[in-house]
Amino acid sequence: MEQEKKAEKLLEVKDLQVSFFTPAGEVKAVNGITYDLNYNEVMGIVGESGSGKSVEAYSIIGLLQSPGKVVGGSITFEGEDMLAKSASDMIEFRGSQVAMIFQNPMTCLNPVYTIGNQLMEALRAHNKDVSKEDAAKRAMEMLEQVGINNVEKRMKQYPHELSGGMRQRVMIAMGLICHPKLLIADEPTTALDVTIQAQILELMKKLQEKNHMGIIFITHNLGVVAEICDKVSVMYAGKMVEQGPVDDIFYNPGHPYTKGLLRSMPRVDAESYERLIPIEGTPVDMLNPPEGCPFAPRCEQAMKICLQKMPPYVEMGEGHRAACWLRIQEQLENQQKEKETEGSEDE
Ligand code: SF4
Repeated sequence: MEQEKKAEKLLEVKDLQVSFFTPAGEVKAVNGITYDLNYNEVMGIVGESGSGKSVEAYSIIGLLQSPGKVVGGSITFEGEDMLAKSASDMIEFRGSQVAMIFQNPMTCLNPVYTIGNQLMEALRAHNKDVSKEDAAKRAMEMLEQVGINNVEKRMKQYPHELSGGMRQRVMIAMGLICHPKLLIADEPTTALDVTIQAQILELMKKLQEKNHMGIIFITHNLGVVAEICDKVSVMYAGKMVEQGPVDDIFYNPGHPYTKGLLRSMPRVDAESYERLIPIEGTPVDMLNPPEGCPFAPRCEQAMKICLQKMPPYVEMGEGHRAACWLRIQEQLENQQKEKETEGSEDE
């Protein structure tokens, strides 16, 4: 029964649209995004700065800052409509069902309170019946779980007394102390050196398996995605241009932007003379986005239709789809070939 539950959908996002109403005009930061996330699943959201990946995640937990507004679509968490919840319901939801960790732990940790104090408060804020003693015990267990040693000493220390990697672990402990069902990690390892980054990713994967959480991992780094994610959504200029299981995205990408991201990523199996190829051009001016495909001004394969119409999604495999006119052309050519083969067999 438990296993059955874990395969169910935890989160469903349908045609989500988020706009920022600025004095210069409307910025469609998230423009029609659809995906779902199961319990026990890790989804990476990849894209460059300004692609809308963080805005999208903040909308889920009701932390969208003014002048941002959800203007369309739906967000459903365990079957409940998140957009219909009141502000106080959302505070409760954020503390008990979902946790968020950020690139900079100092945005979460209060410099004037000890680590122990902050962990205990995070727990007791949403579990009023937990005694101080039990909260301290849970806090120390949590610190041990995230690989921090000498926990009694750490409980009494202040954030500035810890290293960057250790602060990040404390933030993960704080996020997980209430056993959230969903963890949103926004570039949580970007500021760390590679060794610590690998340790933190391994730790998150271990805790995710133990607690059966769903994780949304926001990053611009495809290497991190390969380490931890089951599936990936690639965002460009507020749109999800490709989505699929992690292996499909890496071995059979369908969108030129995804291909560009892969070419610009260092690989351990690359020959020493292979150069990384950056994606030429600049990101879209979101106040004046192009008419058709938003990637067209940077795409080497852009055609006339790309400048006129946004391509619809093409299914490329199970759970794998991409929005690109090239894939549509390919699909039509394949259908034509099939017809011709059928025709010649009938003769
Ligand atoms: Fe390039 Fe056209 Fe595909 Fe957009 S739709 S990515 S411009 S080929």
